[in-house]
Amino acid sequence: MARRTRFLHAAAAVGLGLASLGAATPAPTAPASGSSSARFDFHGDVPAFLRSLPDSLGNKAQLSAIVSALATAYPKEFQGLETGPGNRVMVRAAGGKFVFDDSLSKTFEERLDHPDIEDMFHDLYPLTNPTDRLPRDFDPGRVRVEDFFLALYGASESAVAANCVEVDFCGSSVKFNKRCGAADALRAVAVDLEKVFAQKPALRVYVQKLAGTFNWRKIAGTKRLSNHSFGTAIDLNLDKAAYWRWQKPEQLETFSRKDWPNEIVEAFERHGFIWGGKWWHFDTMHFEYRPEIIAYARDKGPTVAPR
Ligand SMILES: [Zn+2]
Repeated sequence: MARRTRFLHAAAAVGLGLASLGAATPAPTAPASGSSSARFDFHGDVPAFLRSLPDSLGNKAQLSAIVSALATAYPKEFQGLETGPGNRVMVRAAGGKFVFDDSLSKTFEERLDHPDIEDMFHDLYPLTNPTDRLPRDFDPGRVRVEDFFLALYGASESAVAANCVEVDFCGSSVKFNKRCGAADALRAVAVDLEKVFAQKPALRVYVQKLAGTFNWRKIAGTKRLSNHSFGTAIDLNLDKAAYWRWQKPEQLETFSRKDWPNEIVEAFERHGFIWGGKWWHFDTMHFEYRPEIIAYARDKGPTVAPR
């Protein structure tokens, strides 16, 4: 209860701060009156866009890395940045605006429940395989700004359903969202997996009895929408799955992902998917299209899971 109170208090403090600071210009000068916002439009050239951003936007290195990942992952949907009152930076994408950094210090749970765009990149997704144990609460990609994905993929169940197409996936037909290249990425994964299975037929069992793709639902035990709601996640064979909620809490500490086939994980990662197996709160049948998380990790160089 104390934690919750602290968060609300912090949120209120930021609100007051914004009101007292007033408007700001994007130039590295003191806030000027009369100017409410500045816009920085993205026209498809990531380096040129980054050069156009003034230093006054805050931690330029972190902002640039995240903006670069978003622009690389969603080149048609990412529209640029905007500054508002208090020089607060907003990300513009798919017609929406999303707070880049709310300046709040958050607990793990607060980050899941009240994330800003920057929070989505809090844990660096490890691109090296295999992954063994992970440190407590290390969940790269599990933080999601829900409104961002609603803007990208459809604002309601029926809107997402209308954006879903059938994808032939390793002998099954599944529904996947055609926006942001998600369905095409899943098709590309399937092509790569067929090459893997040609070499190692025993691995095909992982894509048999698929546990599902598009399904508008909350994540078990939370109020947050699963990315299955957006038609951008696929669950493989339930018989091969390990899920943190099925384990005793002490087993999360010692859970190893090393027995999971690298070839399958890498086929997905190559095309912009993250694996739920790389979370402390693991969900090993779950793959989710998150090209911004993969782009950010690639940009940081070879990333190994922390211990
Ligand atoms: Zn899933």
